Amino acid sequence: MKGIRADDPGGQGRWSFSSQQATLRRLDKAFTAFFRRIGRGRTPGFPRFKGRGWFDTVEWPKDGDGCRWDSQPAHPTTTFVRLQDVGHGRVHQHRPIKGRVKTISVKREGVRWYVVLSCDEVPADTLPATGAMAGIDMGVASLVTTSDGNHLVNPRHLAKTADRLATAQRDLARKTRGSKRRVKAVARVARLHAKVRRQRLDGTHKATLSLVRAYDVIVHEALHVANMTRRAAPQPDGQSGFLPNRASAKSGLNRSILDAGWGVFLTVLAHKAESAGRELIAVNPANTSRICARCGHSAKENRISQAAFRCTACGHATHADVNAAINVLRAGLALRDAAGAA
Ligand SMILES: [Zn+2]
Repeated sequence: MKGIRADDPGGQGRWSFSSQQATLRRLDKAFTAFFRRIGRGRTPGFPRFKGRGWFDTVEWPKDGDGCRWDSQPAHPTTTFVRLQDVGHGRVHQHRPIKGRVKTISVKREGVRWYVVLSCDEVPADTLPATGAMAGIDMGVASLVTTSDGNHLVNPRHLAKTADRLATAQRDLARKTRGSKRRVKAVARVARLHAKVRRQRLDGTHKATLSLVRAYDVIVHEALHVANMTRRAAPQPDGQSGFLPNRASAKSGLNRSILDAGWGVFLTVLAHKAESAGRELIAVNPANTSRICARCGHSAKENRISQAAFRCTACGHATHADVNAAINVLRAGLALRDAAGAA
């Protein structure tokens, strides 16, 4: 990189060295992950080349090194960020900074630009104890069901906006490459995707905050989202064709899972719980949906439909997700007792 910078002082050489290093590190990370997956016998996609039209994030690993947060502190009303060879940029700051700014990233989303800060020494935001504990079951119909019977409704923004997005994408497919109309259509699709992403993240923040406020201890299932959302493998029937593998049914479920955004949900929940001083326990989800929470009888016939549970031994009937959430809570408390006794 030093050579490239020296040969091109007016081009590559203008930018922050540390920032370019950070980009190279990201590239290295992508290839390391790629070869690690190959080593495990998987078939990952080759890391995709990202030209300037697709390259959307630049990171500066240290505030003060090629970048400066709040670069004009004397300004009475506006916050600025200075980036090497870009200059001072006005920032629409929508909440105060907590802690000390460590890294600065600039991210492009459609026509919007975001400044993303990561901070050190962020003061904890502990909440008063409530004395309540809950197990949560994560589903598709309701994003989350708690063991005391609350259903947090899944904000299915993607499903609602899917029609608009599909229309925009069909529209885009008809445009001629290189035309002005195509550029506009690309922007429209990107804008809709970004809207869905923002709404989904907003819903996640609201749902996780309400959980963290209400309970001192939250137990959830440890989910392997990557496994659940993998594409259904085609099954050869031994002759020339393929047996139906329920790929379309599974794709529908995949879509719902991705829509619900469980991975993001758990990440946000973990951050909020840590900051609030709450205890978060992950348990093995095996059998939580088929065990009867009243008598402990385990049978897959207990679950009579997606929503209904009726125990074949004791006749206990309840909502399937509430039953599962109670089992999750119990498993978590057992795990906690075991850890305490050891
Ligand atoms: Zn029972």
